[in-house]
Amino acid sequence: MAIQKLKSGRSDADRSSDDSKIRSIVEATLADIETRRDAAVRDYAQKFDNYTPDSFRLSQAEIDALIATLPDRDIEDIRFAQEQVRNFAKAQRDSMQDIEVETLPGIVLGHRHIPVQSVGCYVPGGKFPMVAAAHMSVLTAAVAGVPRIVAMTPPFGGKPNAAVVAAMHMAGAHEIYILGGIQAVGAMAIGTETIAPVDMLVGPGNAFVAEAKRQLFGRVGIDLFAGPTETMVIADDTVDAELCATDLLGQAEHGYDSPAVLVTNSRKLAEATLAEVDRLLTILPTAETAGASWRDYGEVILCDSYEEMLEVANEIASEHVQVMTDRDDWFLDNMTAYGALFLGPRTNVANGDKVIGTNHTLPTKRAGRYTGGLWVGKFLKTHSYQRITSDEAAADMGAYCSRLCQLEGFVGHAEQANIRVRRYGKRNVPY
Ligand code: NAD
Repeated sequence: MAIQKLKSGRSDADRSSDDSKIRSIVEATLADIETRRDAAVRDYAQKFDNYTPDSFRLSQAEIDALIATLPDRDIEDIRFAQEQVRNFAKAQRDSMQDIEVETLPGIVLGHRHIPVQSVGCYVPGGKFPMVAAAHMSVLTAAVAGVPRIVAMTPPFGGKPNAAVVAAMHMAGAHEIYILGGIQAVGAMAIGTETIAPVDMLVGPGNAFVAEAKRQLFGRVGIDLFAGPTETMVIADDTVDAELCATDLLGQAEHGYDSPAVLVTNSRKLAEATLAEVDRLLTILPTAETAGASWRDYGEVILCDSYEEMLEVANEIASEHVQVMTDRDDWFLDNMTAYGALFLGPRTNVANGDKVIGTNHTLPTKRAGRYTGGLWVGKFLKTHSYQRITSDEAAADMGAYCSRLCQLEGFVGHAEQANIRVRRYGKRNVPY
């Protein structure tokens, strides 16, 4: 392979030392919440967000008052985005049928999808009030039929953000709290004197939030590892540098740690994009963050062929992958690891983030190798059941079962089968 990096980000060693610092901060914070519950949550809310109201939970009157401050246009836009997310989530839900099949005469097997009974939806909001994150988690949980949906988001600019609260409420949250970071996911998973624990945590967040969810997994379910945003642009000579640079910076602005990678088979496009990023950074209002991300995590990878581009893209397994080539469908057919694909120059990543209807909570840090993003199916547990409906089937299956149990030395298991062979098959099997 003749892959060349025309621009690299920080080394893997640097990145992993950041990870280990975050791991220990999260561990200590969760241990403290475990011991001191509400008191610890309050202390961390003070320390990190300087926000400690009498109650972190908003009352219905507070929710109504916040929503009343929003212009009709904002409410209408939120409603439109939620309708798109709901429509796609409903179609996905409808594709998940319960099944029951007779695999042998008298042997009936089935599965049922049962919603998780309570979920905690984290809606990030430290640097930007992420209205869209409320549609993605709260609304999708509602479509799945989750009976208790708790939603938490940090204060923005020292107070609740009206648009985020409106989106949470309109999406169907049953409890809304203004609480962020490790203390929010810790409180939801561990429970406190005032917050009943949930069964599952979902939603994206910064590196602290993502790590806290990772550490809490097992005690509660989690949707996936959805940390700081990543983006990749796969492009050839069919597109120009302005489009590529705009798409790279349009995600790098998320934070100081958002990888943005161009993979191309065109040296001309690679060099032009590097120059175009520099130009855009002189005019983009969020250039401070986007520029820092680009400096530390931006990469430009030049490949010899489409096959090499595919190999690199699957290896990196980026969260968002924008494909703008003359072989978009070939990438769709052959990519195996990613969060979501955005195919063709008309289809930008921000559409998926905000409004188009697919879910924007997506795997980061190469988690796309083993999971896709959040979707209605993540809120549904698939539980199997079985039933034997004839004496003959009970006796026949029982004979196999008994011998296979004995092969493993499980005598008690074997007797469960033998008693049925005697009763329903009228065959004499010694105890
Ligand atoms: P956030 O809500 O995730 O985090 C804010 C909280 O972080 C604060 O409330 C504070 O309590 C805590 N915090 C800040 N500094 C801390 C410190 N030093 N120690 C402990 N806690 C600290 O909001 P954000 O920071 O704006 O991050 C949002 C993130 O979500 C971005 O990284 C964005 O890329 C990511 N995101 C990911 C996806 C995805 O699907 N993967 C989607 C949307 C957003």
